[in-house]
Amino acid sequence: MESIIFIAPPAAGKGTQSKLLCDTYHIPHISTGDLLREASKTENERGKLIKEKMEQGAFVSDDIILELIEERLKEKDCDNGYILDGFPRNIEQAIAYEKILEKLNKKLGIVILLEVDKDLACKRITGRLNCPECGSVYNEIIEESKPKEAGICDRCGGKLKKRSDDNSTTFSTRYDTYLEKTGPLIKYYQDKNILFRVESNDSKETFEQIKNILQGRNEL
Ligand code: AMP
Repeated sequence: MESIIFIAPPAAGKGTQSKLLCDTYHIPHISTGDLLREASKTENERGKLIKEKMEQGAFVSDDIILELIEERLKEKDCDNGYILDGFPRNIEQAIAYEKILEKLNKKLGIVILLEVDKDLACKRITGRLNCPECGSVYNEIIEESKPKEAGICDRCGGKLKKRSDDNSTTFSTRYDTYLEKTGPLIKYYQDKNILFRVESNDSKETFEQIKNILQGRNEL
């Protein structure tokens, strides 16, 4: 299966769509945010630096990201495609990623751009809850995304957590950084003819549209 890159502003539903795709197509979901959160737990200079940047809503340096990505893509489960959530996030990362792909003999695949209204994204971010056990995402503000029991994961019973960078102040920085640094990737991938736009207001509809795109690609 082709690998998928998601480009989207914060809280556009990258995590939710990635989870649905990896459950349906059995390919791994690689989130640089998750890889960084894990790396930030190590008590060394690098761990401290990552934590600091993430809490500010700023980008972590390309060197760190590229090292984490290359290591992860070498793993066996990435042999038949994967979903990239949160990477590449700027042109420099996109160019370096293609060099990594060449080295690992992998193809670029397709890019899905999730489009969402800024106010809805802010609402999603301030109410977002994640399950650290199974990766499911909920929202305590949006009625249809609330867990059945407050604070508990419907899927696995895990205790839901709020990310420390999910607040309205950090959202603004993350959104502006997205427009400035990630925005140019839209044209970059459009020029390669591999970019597909999908509206991300309703997670079920969005997922159906993504499945249609993938099906269309397989029928080519
Ligand atoms: P996310 O979980 O994708 O929203 O990412 C959370 C935070 O991790 C971002 O606000 C950045 O601080 C950092 N981050 C994740 N992916 C990248 C990346 N590709 N480049 C730089 N920083 C990143």
